[in-house]
Amino acid sequence: MKDIVPPPPAIVRNDVAAIKGLFEKNVVPTYARFEIALSHGAGSYVWDVTGKRYLDFGGGIAVSSLGHAHPAITEALVEQSKKLVHTSNLYYHESQGRLAEKLVKYIGPGKVFFSNSGGEANEGLFKLARKFGHDEGRFEIITALNSFHGRTLACISATGQDKVKKGFEPMVPGFRHVPYNDLEAIKNAISPATVAVMIECVQGEGGITSASPEYLLGLRKLCDEKKMLLLLDSVQDGHFRTGRCQAFQRILENVPGAENFLPDGISMAKSLGAGFPIGAFWVNDRHSALLSAGSHGSTYGGGPLACAVGLKVFEVIERENLANHVRETGEFIKGGLLKLAEKYPQVVKTARGLGFIMGLELAPGIPAFAGSDKPQAVQFVIRLHEAGMLSVPSGTQVVRLLPPYILNQKEAEEALQIIESVVAKLV
Ligand SMILES: *Cc1c(COP(=O)(O)O)cnc(C)c1O
Repeated sequence: MKDIVPPPPAIVRNDVAAIKGLFEKNVVPTYARFEIALSHGAGSYVWDVTGKRYLDFGGGIAVSSLGHAHPAITEALVEQSKKLVHTSNLYYHESQGRLAEKLVKYIGPGKVFFSNSGGEANEGLFKLARKFGHDEGRFEIITALNSFHGRTLACISATGQDKVKKGFEPMVPGFRHVPYNDLEAIKNAISPATVAVMIECVQGEGGITSASPEYLLGLRKLCDEKKMLLLLDSVQDGHFRTGRCQAFQRILENVPGAENFLPDGISMAKSLGAGFPIGAFWVNDRHSALLSAGSHGSTYGGGPLACAVGLKVFEVIERENLANHVRETGEFIKGGLLKLAEKYPQVVKTARGLGFIMGLELAPGIPAFAGSDKPQAVQFVIRLHEAGMLSVPSGTQVVRLLPPYILNQKEAEEALQIIESVVAKLV
């Protein structure tokens, strides 16, 4: 692979305060940012503007599936941008068709709509569900407590966490939340107006909790019986994050009775573009004609540049057999984390996850964290940063680990060493 971008210097600038000042003056303060200003990345590492290096287990929140500055992605961006960056959806172009074909091949018979983000992909599924139930006056969608579905008005209405809704009421009508992994709770919440169920296969913001195979199979049966759509928000757990293209495929692997399981719709984004903004939803064949010409759209969605990158991401994952790599290395890391839970039960309660979406659950009431009102997960993440590793909290007690699929064995071992060094100091 030819080198397109020259490697940046090790130390770019030393002015975190100046950059932070620009934000404080000019950027809407919707984020409680960490005190880090990033400069550049390469492979599994990123550097901040002071020259400090971090092993990136945050992945820009489960996005940077191929790490940073991957030459194949750079090449796809450069080559496609020389030809055509944007077309709108008034015309055909080859790469959107080819990327849709790839997704259909990996998921199952159906069709794909392209958007620019995960939230927009979910909006598309909400509209699909409303269209499906419209003539019968059905519109209600059941979602799970502790779910996360995005930040648009409908997405915060769908999200089963009060903190994202606060101050923005009234919510978009038609969403109800029930406990996760609880089929009875869904049965009890169904009303004559219910049209769909939407869940994450692995709750990304809700503590890295996976759906059980029985839950998924039970939902499929229930949705068939009640003529409801089964929608999966796989924005975070999708696109090989679990070691299979879709998380449901991993969870239902070798499960008797799951051979023909397919949901009715799946939303995707994050790892799909490895950092280039792209979202999509897949809808199964039975319902793929519901959204007809003029009923939904996006100016940018599925543009040539985004789709060229999406195709390249698939190509790299296939060529380097990264799905298996994610499974095997994920097992190795999880094994190491579980050993930490045995060795330091005062600090680590347990570890869980599938492939490269893992969670380290902290023990309650770690004395070293008592002096701050920041959640334990945030305090732990700050200590990881100091030790040279980026990661992201998931809820208040779980530290989320989302490495790039190109992570090598040496880097996996380094991650475990860094995590242990932080844990050991908290005993
Ligand atoms: C990140 C995320 C979203 C929202 O995606 P955006 O691209 O930020 O709009 C939706 N659902 C889940 C499960 C997510 O993790």
